[in-house]
Amino acid sequence: MSGGVATTVWLSPSATAFSCLCETCLDSARLSGVLFADALAGASVRGSVSAEASVAVARCAAGHEIVLRRVERPPQLAHPDERQLQLS
Ligand SMILES: [Zn+2]
Repeated sequence: MSGGVATTVWLSPSATAFSCLCETCLDSARLSGVLFADALAGASVRGSVSAEASVAVARCAAGHEIVLRRVERPPQLAHPDERQLQLS
């Protein structure tokens, strides 16, 4: 294992639910050569989060950590979030 960096998801100020892809699952799926559609399905993580929580931790089906962080205001920088946007 190199790194072990948890997937981080940024929540909008009013979000009470999240939907993302576990990057660790995507990586391992890519290494094992499964179909991309299957990798996406296996890495998909959805859940709810308290509106008051500024930081929360969720887990994907395989138990990898997903860190949920709430932004105080819309992000100033462009993030490479195309993969997450394609999910919904
Ligand atoms: Zn995972």
